[in-house]
Amino acid sequence: MFWQKDIEIISRRALEELQLKRLKQTVRQAWTNVPFYRDYFSKLSIKPKDITSLNAMQKLPLTTREDLRLNYPFGMLAVTQEQVVRLHTSSGTTGKPKAIFFSKKDVDRAADLIARCLIMTGVKKDDVLQNMMTYGLFTGALVMHYGAEKVGVLVIPAGPGNTKRQIALMQDFKTTTLHLTPSYALYLASVMHNEGLDPKKDFFLRRAYLGSEPYSEETRNKIEKFFGIDVYNSYGLSEMNGPGVAFECMEKDGMHLWEDNFIMEIIDPESGEKLPEGEKGELVLTTLCREAMPILRYRTRDIVMIIPGKCKCGRTHRRISRIIGRSDDMIIIRGVNIFPQQIERVLMGIKAVAQNYQIVLESYDQMTVRVEISKDLFDGKVEHLVNLRNEITEKLRSEILIRAKVELLEPGTLPVSEGKSTRVIDKRTL
Ligand code: ADP
Ligand code: ZN
Repeated sequence: MFWQKDIEIISRRALEELQLKRLKQTVRQAWTNVPFYRDYFSKLSIKPKDITSLNAMQKLPLTTREDLRLNYPFGMLAVTQEQVVRLHTSSGTTGKPKAIFFSKKDVDRAADLIARCLIMTGVKKDDVLQNMMTYGLFTGALVMHYGAEKVGVLVIPAGPGNTKRQIALMQDFKTTTLHLTPSYALYLASVMHNEGLDPKKDFFLRRAYLGSEPYSEETRNKIEKFFGIDVYNSYGLSEMNGPGVAFECMEKDGMHLWEDNFIMEIIDPESGEKLPEGEKGELVLTTLCREAMPILRYRTRDIVMIIPGKCKCGRTHRRISRIIGRSDDMIIIRGVNIFPQQIERVLMGIKAVAQNYQIVLESYDQMTVRVEISKDLFDGKVEHLVNLRNEITEKLRSEILIRAKVELLEPGTLPVSEGKSTRVIDKRTL
């Protein structure tokens, strides 16, 4: 099923023509209305008329997070304040917030992109969506909310936390669809498990949308299995509307990035050079339809690759892989580059490992991985614990190439996060 079929299965040629038309408009709009872009263009001696092809966009400057911060609060606005109806800020996982503005049309377009995602994953009007993302300045919950209402499903604006109430809502209103972070999904699973609840029997769940932080295929499998549902990966960032930028279809083989709304490029984060499909690099996005705040060639810092080839679902918008990590999440220990996600993947692939873990950077050459494991193991033989610790240490070593100290903990020892989780504790800067 499709929400906007014509555009979702548009031919590549027509899509590229549309992109070019919209790119030209966006460049002109940014040049005319945003002094920051006008200055940038004149420094590089570029005029909007120089953008005659999609390739010509390589001439355009890259916009960074720092640029948005320096222009906080109103500097990036391309319309009058009267035309703006909503403010969001990025959740500030990394540093000071950035202001993101929406016009009425922007709100509506963002909702349409979400509607495409929901319909693409089989949602119907009789579905009930429990939205467990944080409402407020964060885009995660509200953008999803508007999109789901647009489709006509019943939305429960639960927000995160208060897990027992979440469970009661899920039962009372026969929730079919969840929207939450992977770390909260894991926590929810542990609470249900401890309460002796079986989500496959006592509930009506069919699917969950997990996003806003990186997670591995192993975590997806774990959650799907426990809840007996389909988990779809959802990617977005406040600077580009929030959720609904890229989303998995029912094939679950990469996330379709809505290329009529965004131009994507993958660049080498060091040299800035454009990389071909299939190669890992930093995702750079250009808005094509944003009225209030057009952004050109935005460095997301997210490391992904474009999956080559066509998707079986028929949509022509290309797919991106799971986010491999943020370029600024990378840990360097003993000169080896490590993404926290590599550690997560190893841990979640081990059956005895429970939901929660933490990576502690003790020094520039020592790292401790603290991991909660099933309770029964603590009640059993010590030798089982030793074996498990050795297994984790070895598997980690073959993935990240260094030996980390592994600490096994009882469930409930580590702090729980309801929104985005903080997995890495860096003692080196404390
Ligand atoms: P902040 O940069 O403050 O966290 P956002 O709330 O806008 O701001 O978060 C966007 C970021 O969240 C993305 O750039 C990406 O790093 C991460 N993210 C969002 N969805 C996913 C996902 N499905 N997988 C991995 N990372 C994600
Ligand atoms: Zn598809």
